[in-house]
Amino acid sequence: MRHQVVLIPGDGIGPEICRAMRRVLDAAGAPIEWEERIAGAAAVERYGTPLPEEVIDRIRERRVALKGPLTTPVGTGHTSANVALRQALDLYACVRPTRTLPGVPSRFGAVDLVIVRENTEGLYSGIEHEVVPGVVESLKIVSERACVRISEFAFQYAVACGRRRVTAVHKANIMKKSDGLFLRCARRVAERYPQIEYDEVIVDACCMRLVMQPERFDVLLTDNLYGDIVSDLAAGLVGGLGVVPGANLGSDCAVFEAVHGSAPDIAGQNRANPLGAIGSVAAMLEYSFGLREEAAAVQRAIEQVLESGHVTADLKPKGTPRSTSEVGQAVCELI
Ligand code: ATP
Repeated sequence: MRHQVVLIPGDGIGPEICRAMRRVLDAAGAPIEWEERIAGAAAVERYGTPLPEEVIDRIRERRVALKGPLTTPVGTGHTSANVALRQALDLYACVRPTRTLPGVPSRFGAVDLVIVRENTEGLYSGIEHEVVPGVVESLKIVSERACVRISEFAFQYAVACGRRRVTAVHKANIMKKSDGLFLRCARRVAERYPQIEYDEVIVDACCMRLVMQPERFDVLLTDNLYGDIVSDLAAGLVGGLGVVPGANLGSDCAVFEAVHGSAPDIAGQNRANPLGAIGSVAAMLEYSFGLREEAAAVQRAIEQVLESGHVTADLKPKGTPRSTSEVGQAVCELI
């Protein structure tokens, strides 16, 4: 049986990264059939919208997608197609496992944490308006339903993956109602998982502790905005945005993508690190299709490439870096 997957190359470095992902899947011998769809800047040119309805429908039908990054204009222009896709498909849990990698120099020896981020509401609800000229309002929407289900997801994940602790990240001292609700829900869910430790940390203190003692953290349960910021910070602890994989999961669909954005500064230069995206491929093989052996082979190959030091420029300040395609090829050969 062949699995159907929607592939969205995306913007910036997306197409280069996606080429590497496809090659890796072929090398892994995974029984996958692709259906490529356009979203992001290319879709704006062609269809007048960064996220054509048809793309959403295809993912709904196929249930699984592998996605490159989609550029979001800063300060003006269309709203984020990444956020819109997560909301449209109700991909409520964003999961970003972040750990020290073999061969990658980092300040810390044993980072091994997972960020579980609420992916559909909070300040990313996109509800903003100008009240009077010079004053704007941006609404943070927090619902009990979303807080309970993301908490439930974090604890179930902790149990399934042999994790010890869930830490809720908040700012309930200032946002007493919204983050207060988030905490109340997390505490309520925590009571049903006595085997998992539960604690809480204010988001600013969390950032400080992350750069001083990241080994302390296990599963971090966050809202949408804190999770976005904290996951880039955490990526910086283990080698940067190029190496961290990610998944957006809902009850019906799953969209896998690396943590990084479209990196327009290095797009089209065959310089981007494809390993985070290739890690997302491994996650997809295991989570969506139960192809454990194939997933493990991809994961092993990523680690071997890192250990070999034949890596892209972001991981190699000295010496000659390898290109995106060379790193992709090396992963394929090792598989
Ligand atoms: P976007 O608006 O799409 O989020 P961005 O440039 O603001 O794009 P990122 O794409 O996340 O944000 O990039 C932040 C920085 O990290 C950039 O300097 C970029 O070159 C670097 N970067 C991101 N992804 C990679 C990668 N895969 N390999 C190497 N460098 C990367």
